[in-house]
Amino acid sequence: MPTIRLSPWQLAVAAAIFIVAVSNGSLFAALLGGLDVHSIAGTGFLATLLLLMVLVLVTIFLTIGFGWLLKAVVGLFLVVSAILAYFCNELGIVFDQDMLANIAETVRDNNIAEATELASAPLLLHVLFFGVLPALLLGFVQLQKRNLGRELGVRALVLTAGFVLLAGITLPNYRYITYFGRENSSLEVKATPIYPLISMVKLIRDHLRPERSFQVIDAAAFQRHTLKRKSIGIMVVGETARADHFSMGGYAVKTNPRLENIPGVIFADADSCGTSTLFSVPCMFSMRGRDTYEPDEASSESNVLDILTAAGVKTVWIDNNSSCKNVCNRIENSNLRDEPDEAAALYSDMGYFDEILLQKIEPYLDTDGPDVLIVLHTLGSHGPAYSRRYPAEFGIFKPYCQQASPTDCTTEEVVNAYDNTIAYTDYLLSQLIEKLRTKADAVDTFLFYVSDHGESLGEGGIYLHGLPYAIAPYAQKDVPFIFWASDSFYEDRFATPKFIALADGKHLSHDNISHTLLGIYDVSASSYLQSLDALSSAMDPNRSRRIASANSNK
Ligand SMILES: [Zn+2]
Repeated sequence: MPTIRLSPWQLAVAAAIFIVAVSNGSLFAALLGGLDVHSIAGTGFLATLLLLMVLVLVTIFLTIGFGWLLKAVVGLFLVVSAILAYFCNELGIVFDQDMLANIAETVRDNNIAEATELASAPLLLHVLFFGVLPALLLGFVQLQKRNLGRELGVRALVLTAGFVLLAGITLPNYRYITYFGRENSSLEVKATPIYPLISMVKLIRDHLRPERSFQVIDAAAFQRHTLKRKSIGIMVVGETARADHFSMGGYAVKTNPRLENIPGVIFADADSCGTSTLFSVPCMFSMRGRDTYEPDEASSESNVLDILTAAGVKTVWIDNNSSCKNVCNRIENSNLRDEPDEAAALYSDMGYFDEILLQKIEPYLDTDGPDVLIVLHTLGSHGPAYSRRYPAEFGIFKPYCQQASPTDCTTEEVVNAYDNTIAYTDYLLSQLIEKLRTKADAVDTFLFYVSDHGESLGEGGIYLHGLPYAIAPYAQKDVPFIFWASDSFYEDRFATPKFIALADGKHLSHDNISHTLLGIYDVSASSYLQSLDALSSAMDPNRSRRIASANSNK
């Protein structure tokens, strides 16, 4: 019988390359469709991705596989990858946590009927050629033996060389790789067997983690009812708006022509809690500050909307974005994406323009009944196709980028498209204030706007958002904080000396939102901190400055 003599690292590398090469047909097809592979950056991205996938497998093989166990692990990966690749490439199956949990259940139930239904001739042939036969070849491999110390040294050297090579390819193409990677994150599900492997690790991790029971905070919260009139407030959750592109804050381009002319509109800039919607939105409504915010813990305890509701305020969440990220689960809520009317004038290919929200708030502006807080989750300046966020007549700063990718436009065009989204937000907020103003004779009204995070517009070669907080540029973390209230709102509240006007120039953060809302509705709650209420004279300026300095790395 002929034998092939290989070092363990040679077997690991050869098997990893084989698995990645034969398992990712649909990933390669999708990438080649969207990548400029003739450019150095496009080739760099492809090389980075392939090398990364190979390295993950090599690392697994060389970490757990010694002697016969290495062959067993490689053989198992060959067969399982061939099965996964067939379902992923031929049937478009995504092996996420839900799918793996389903499979585990089928196995646990010993559901042979379901398993045999899936076993088709093409599947068996595919697994035979790409999994079983290559695994049988391992029988002809004779692994070189070294003493353990030497063997560990060789393995460490191989892995180090691999990661140095990865860094060498990645760093020169950093700009394109981060952009393309973020834009195509939906392709990750095709990375076989890496994505199923990550799903499996997550599934096991979630399974081992003890179920957290929901913690009700401030169930006994109540409104003191010291205010004379009913209050109706609109809290607008902005999307991807950065403070330094608001002319109210000093930006040279007139992006706020309307708000600037409305008396009493207050602008401040604030530090965001995170650099992504998923992290920031729940944090904005959490009673925790950024210092103690932890997504899992916060999602299983009351947020400020729950506390306001418990206290007697009618709260409603209307979403024109992806979702409320579980913030609105226990209050009245709707998502405009659920049943889109594609014939509607305000509908475009990417969903509704935010203006649609002007119609959706009408049912909640009744001047009778309990206090009301309407939360509007806007699509705002969501990239990268900024020009699709506003109707054509709002494309006032020209020329603006109309490509799906900002890397296909000049910086000026990208910034113009982005500034148009800010001007459109300016229009939306001014119209909301107009609506509230018509009710101001009968009720106290206010508008509160804070964006979830900022955006990089190509500075230093960085686009979009979502970088780890510690290294994210300030553009991704510095968000606008806008407040307007009716005269009656101030009259009603300034009768008690604890309130002061939210002054321009105060440096704020997402930490202030929840406490400011509780203060506005005069809620008695143990989690309320007056030192974080942006409308309170007791607001601790040192604390907000401390947060500001901890967060700033301009
Ligand atoms: Zn966002």
